[in-house]
Amino acid sequence: MTNSADLYGPVWPLPLATTPFPNETLRSYVARLALLNRLPPERVLRRFYTAESPMDNVRLLAIRSGQTPHLLMRQLPELATPGPWPHEQHENPARSWACHPCVAARTGRDDWKVEIWAISGHHHLCVKHRRWTRTHHGHYMANFAGAVDGQFNLNRAPEIIHAQRRLHRLFRRRTPRRVLAAYQECVDFWRELAKHGYAINRTERLLDLIAPDEPIAHRSYAKREAARLPDLVEMLGLYTSPVWRHRALGSPRDVQLFHREFERRLPPERQLRTTAIPWFRREATLVAERITERMDEQERQLMRVASAASGTPEWWPPLIMHKLLRHTPSYGR
Ligand SMILES: [Zn+2]
Repeated sequence: MTNSADLYGPVWPLPLATTPFPNETLRSYVARLALLNRLPPERVLRRFYTAESPMDNVRLLAIRSGQTPHLLMRQLPELATPGPWPHEQHENPARSWACHPCVAARTGRDDWKVEIWAISGHHHLCVKHRRWTRTHHGHYMANFAGAVDGQFNLNRAPEIIHAQRRLHRLFRRRTPRRVLAAYQECVDFWRELAKHGYAINRTERLLDLIAPDEPIAHRSYAKREAARLPDLVEMLGLYTSPVWRHRALGSPRDVQLFHREFERRLPPERQLRTTAIPWFRREATLVAERITERMDEQERQLMRVASAASGTPEWWPPLIMHKLLRHTPSYGR
């Protein structure tokens, strides 16, 4: 039997082992193994990526890491599906740093950064440690040693923790793909409304709690996003409700009811300027229209995939979403 390992000589287990973190990215796990064994991560990564197929990768990594192929495939999403990752049908997995206290608790080390596959639009913060984890990061190899930067504590703002829990419940109740279909539309609409000062006091109050000593101009983008999360989740709840979306697209009377519900859930703190009111009303309906279109398109696409494949492929988007969510309980409970 020929496998890629033969091409490069025998493969030995590395002397020191560590288990993968749930949903860890392949490069993060391999780099941690290398660091632990005092090897340059680049070398281990290069050696690793020369494997010919994902299945060779699993075998090779199982030998090197001393873990079972089953465990590796369960914890490392990239190994669970043959072929490229993320699959072209996967819209939402994104690289993110794992919550630092979670990493320390699981690995026993607080000098490791762990990179995970997270669902953008869902994984904003660790509920268990009350810590915002949705931070952007630059080039991986330049960044993976040392403490995680950009994460921050939310102890003083329980509304934000509560919002993450509500978001998790929405995902379970209304299916992740429907919530995600509405996500970007709601983010954009809320940003536009924020420019009109729609809920400026609520946002500023939360920012004061998260970043009490920082001058306003220095508050990071991530902190602003955190302060907007409760209102964003409220808006998502409204727009992912089939009943309310239907009303937003219905008769003038229905649309009026929708606007009233919108303002009940998201009370405006400042009257919109007379010129902005028609824009707001039109946009509230257009957002519902675009979300419905996107949801319908998504269902059509899934139907196409389902009818083309025999059985359920491993990369089936709802299945992958379910796996990613199940493996990161600290984001919802
Ligand atoms: Zn945590």
